[in-house]
Amino acid sequence: MKEKSLLIIGAGAAGLMAAKQLSLYFNVTILEADNRLGGRIHSINKQDGVIEAGAEFVHGNLPITMQLLHDAPIQFIKTTGKNYRKKNGVLNIDMEREEGWEEMLQKMKVVTTDVTLEVFLQNHYADEKYAALKKQVIAYAEGFDLADCTRASVCSFYKEWSAEDGESYRIPSGYKALVDYVAQQAIADECKILLNKTVERINWNQDNVTAYTTDKEVFRANKILITTSLNLLFQNERKSFLQFDPPINAYAKAAKNIGLGAVIKVVLKFNKTFWKPDAQFFFSDEKFFPTWWTQLPNTVPILTGWMGGPTAAILAEEDNDSLLQTALASLASIFDITEDKLKADIEFGEIFNWQSNTFSLGGYSYDMANSAEAKATLSTPLFNTIFFAGEALYHGNHPGTVEAALASGQQVATLIKG
Ligand SMILES: Cc1cc2nc3c(=O)[nH]c(=O)nc-3n(C[C@H](O)[C@H](O)[C@H](O)COP(=O)(O)OP(=O)(O)OC[C@H]3O[C@@H](n4cnc5c(N)ncnc54)[C@H](O)[C@@H]3O)c2cc1C
Repeated sequence: MKEKSLLIIGAGAAGLMAAKQLSLYFNVTILEADNRLGGRIHSINKQDGVIEAGAEFVHGNLPITMQLLHDAPIQFIKTTGKNYRKKNGVLNIDMEREEGWEEMLQKMKVVTTDVTLEVFLQNHYADEKYAALKKQVIAYAEGFDLADCTRASVCSFYKEWSAEDGESYRIPSGYKALVDYVAQQAIADECKILLNKTVERINWNQDNVTAYTTDKEVFRANKILITTSLNLLFQNERKSFLQFDPPINAYAKAAKNIGLGAVIKVVLKFNKTFWKPDAQFFFSDEKFFPTWWTQLPNTVPILTGWMGGPTAAILAEEDNDSLLQTALASLASIFDITEDKLKADIEFGEIFNWQSNTFSLGGYSYDMANSAEAKATLSTPLFNTIFFAGEALYHGNHPGTVEAALASGQQVATLIKG
């Protein structure tokens, strides 16, 4: 007998994972604003395969993700290929890391009072001889972690970067297969998932919650779990944020102490490849869309361009046509091909600007120096009634990933079950 009810806001990896763990014990209803499951996992079927608007790689042998892939089972394949870098006007195979990276990690390891990456680099790498390393570290922090180096925590970067195992995998049927599997498990235990239900207000007391949606529906339950991205929680400048009645100011304040970076991804399909068949990544010094990758081991002629962190935030308000133009200019410069030639060979081009996505208002999170405290606040339930989860509340070594969201969903489920 399930005596108590639980509302989950958001059918992303965290919300679905929590539902999978809890639907046996609670009457669970998930309210999802979008017209699909997955949130920042968004696999889109195209004529000859799947493209990923959001999460694309499994970044290492990550325990929960791997377990789910095995249980389902869902095929995953190791990525292959070499890294190329545009240096002095030439695209050449290049080491992923500049010399000195390992030594830098050792310096990060012994930092006792957390500082921002910018301060750390000023303290240890001010000398001109470190210019190349410094440039690469900043590009990595901004590009991969979407971080603002003037705010991001050096201790967190150490934890994450030293745990990287160098492996990465793709899911040929799309990351969505993982989402669908987790959702099916929850549904098997009678979880209800309602799409197109944007929650705008939550009234609560110590024993009950009432959620109001923009289409004027009302949902009542004993407990509520909120898994939306942090920018949607307590954002003031935009319309799409959740209101709590009575307000929960300590949580609102905490949410502001965890970073959420911008990211813009472009996926271009050409009528044939014009790059080296062994290439996986292309790195460059282009200001916008400096990084591109292929689909290897799949040889389909698709290139994905990536721009993250403060630079992506600068362009976040641009429309898709203008972003596509900017992406093509970068690609033309990296490959020394005219933009007209590139345009002539494009079969399709899609832009995914997550900063302007109404249901996330950002890419994924990064830690600031005071984020540990903020995460502790947000991870503490309010009267055993209001709970939070999501990739931003994860404490482990793989932040900003699907694994982080799954782990957070799993962890909050243990709390809710009591
Ligand atoms: C471009 C991009 C690339 C990425 N690449 C990778 C990668 O290669 N590998 C990797 O592991 N991770 C990657 N990530 C990160 C990964 O996608 C996220 O960490 C993870 O999917 C977040 O899951 P979540 O459940 O915490 O949040 P979300 O997926 O954002 O789920 C929250 C859900 O809440 C819904 N929602 C929001 N507001 C409301 C509301 N008011 N009412 C109801 N529902 C609401 C949203 O629609 C959403 O479905 C990437 C992310 C992006 C954006």
